[in-house]
Amino acid sequence: MSETRPENVIIIGSGPAAWTAAIYAARANLKPLVFEGEPVGTELPGGQLMLTTDVENFPGFPEAISGPDLMDRMRAQAVHHGTRVESELVKSVDLSQRPFTITPNYSASRQAHTVIVATGAAAKWIGLESEIRLAQVGGGVSACAVCDGAMPFFRNKRLAVVGGGDTAMEEAMYLTKFASEVVIIHRRDSFRASKVMANRVLAHPKIRVIWNARVTEVLGEDFITGLALEHTLTGVRNALEVGGLFVAIGHTPNTKFLNGQLATTEFGYLTTAPWRTATEIEGVYAAGDVIDDYYRQAITSAGTGCMAALEAERWLMHHGIGDGDEVPAVVGAADHA
Ligand code: NAP
Repeated sequence: MSETRPENVIIIGSGPAAWTAAIYAARANLKPLVFEGEPVGTELPGGQLMLTTDVENFPGFPEAISGPDLMDRMRAQAVHHGTRVESELVKSVDLSQRPFTITPNYSASRQAHTVIVATGAAAKWIGLESEIRLAQVGGGVSACAVCDGAMPFFRNKRLAVVGGGDTAMEEAMYLTKFASEVVIIHRRDSFRASKVMANRVLAHPKIRVIWNARVTEVLGEDFITGLALEHTLTGVRNALEVGGLFVAIGHTPNTKFLNGQLATTEFGYLTTAPWRTATEIEGVYAAGDVIDDYYRQAITSAGTGCMAALEAERWLMHHGIGDGDEVPAVVGAADHA
């Protein structure tokens, strides 16, 4: 364990929530330390925006900006104001004692008076090499219709959505604004989605459903041209020409390293006090997609990152910590601030 003074605030994550929290904490002179993670498979530091091409809906970029560029700029802004960054994944945390202990994959454990968890959620992918490759190069494969659906290259094309839950219904409805036809491909013969959303989709003149089918290959070298499909019951194979694929089979909030120390919803998202980022442990805040199964936007993540930093700053100030002050011997009940 490290012998050095506990950090004022450790931020875990590297998406819009984490960098915005870092910018605010750094400007408040809290000298934040960010654990931005490291590449693992399709997961890159920077989160889901690393798999996004042009971002057209983040205010301030009228000409659009690429997802990775946006993340680079946020990171640079945080560093410019004094944020320190460790490029390591956090393996575990101990939130049962103050100061909290954060243990990264390789280097020594660190201690912190406050922690901001902004580890995001990973979109689930079907798992095909062709799918991941085209998603990474902006080749017409996406896991977010609201983020990418308005791109000019999706206009007036047949677009496919994979999934049968509420997200798939929402994405399909959204895509009808741009597509000539939306084809939902679902692996069973009924939707998991709520009745009201499923009925809306089934009644839409631009939406067609292919039941009992799975995608076995995404066709196209640099840009998607079609899908290879297989009937789940008969095994019959065929191809479907499409100009875009939206994978909507769910998200997994990145909370494994917390080992159940913070409360979650039934879907695994961290819970916070209403319109706050405070978790049930005082001094621990959560922001971004790890708390959000509803909006999932870069701008909403950034907003909650700002909230988390302000709440952490206020907690530290309230307890007289920061700029070299001492840790209080005992801190009050673990309640929502
Ligand atoms: P979900 O409810 O878990 O649905 C995932 C869908 O993807 C299921 O239909 C599932 O098929 C399918 N699927 C999973 N893995 C697959 C794979 N490998 N290949 C092909 N298909 C696969 O996820 P979600 O739609 O993202 O919704 C998550 C939660 O958020 C839900 O509680 C939902 O109600 C909520 N939500 C609400 C709203 C809203 O109210 N406006 C909007 C979005 C989400 P099976 O059905 O066969 O399992």
